[in-house]
Amino acid sequence: MKRICISEFMDPAAVQALTPGFDVRYEPGWVDQRPALLDALPEADALIVRNRTQVDAALLERSPALRVVGRLGVGLDNIDVGACRERGIQVIPAVGANARSVAEYVVTTAAMLLRGAYLASEQVAAGAWPRARLSEGREALGKTLGLIGYGDIGRQTAALAQAFGMQVVAYDPMLSPDDPVWASTGATCVSLETLLEQSDAVSLHVPLVAATRHLIEVGRLAAMKSGAVLINTARGGVVDESALADALRAGHLAGAALDVFEAEPLSAGSPLAGVPNLLLTPHIGGVTREANARVSMLIARQVRQALEEQA
Ligand code: NAD
Repeated sequence: MKRICISEFMDPAAVQALTPGFDVRYEPGWVDQRPALLDALPEADALIVRNRTQVDAALLERSPALRVVGRLGVGLDNIDVGACRERGIQVIPAVGANARSVAEYVVTTAAMLLRGAYLASEQVAAGAWPRARLSEGREALGKTLGLIGYGDIGRQTAALAQAFGMQVVAYDPMLSPDDPVWASTGATCVSLETLLEQSDAVSLHVPLVAATRHLIEVGRLAAMKSGAVLINTARGGVVDESALADALRAGHLAGAALDVFEAEPLSAGSPLAGVPNLLLTPHIGGVTREANARVSMLIARQVRQALEEQA
């Protein structure tokens, strides 16, 4: 019987769906117990991971029977895709299954940051009344949202932002200015410079690759509109965290939200500690009850199909 190892959390119904016909080893703690995971892999035909299990050369070396890697999400930066290709291992991401969750996160967070009114709960509960200071918030209506990367998540985010009355501009060097997607989605194709100059809120939706590492660094933060807000749900390495901390402390940016970080969890002494007007979430942009069920079931179905086709 073929063995499927699952090293991070997966919706129970999807784990159940894999069980008939396969030897399923579901150990969501393996992601933090690498030796135990490596011990289980010599017999594994398939491995299912989220974004924290490093599917690197050392892991692949311990997995001679591996034919399929299922990814419960979309970024592939934790998987050595080239090495998998060379070994004939099929890598299956859950394309599209969590995009809505990320898009809702971005648009609600952009509105919260522009409004600037939600970070004083402790003061209000303690009897303070910072009404004058918090009466300077802005509406989303008529503001410009700049999307860096205009793929699946970028487009779903654009649609929600437009429902709020926002203008959407986007930068994506892989899409030509003639691509029909611009007209069909109502977003304006712009250069990165124009996007930074025009946007009241900037949101990142690119993969982490060499060209996007520290795409948002000190110079590009300085090029953003004064009082703009930044949201990163893409990958931590895309934003220079120290430079962002400086831009927030200096008041150049009115706020930022980060869901992804250069090191996850954050290391002691992170430059982000104690920074004002900064919302931090632990890489949950694409993880909701609904998205988890969709992502898990999609991967269960596709991993089953891939293994059955190879039988
Ligand atoms: P996608 O592949 O549909 O879109 C990515 C877009 O980025 C593509 O259109 C591509 O042309 C563009 N791109 C590539 N290089 C670029 C560059 N240098 N500058 C600008 N654009 C560039 O992917 P997606 O589903 O929209 O996801 C985007 C990213 O979001 C993923 O790679 C992943 O890292 C991240 N993500 C995070 C979460 C979360 O929980 N926080 C969940 C899902 C996805």
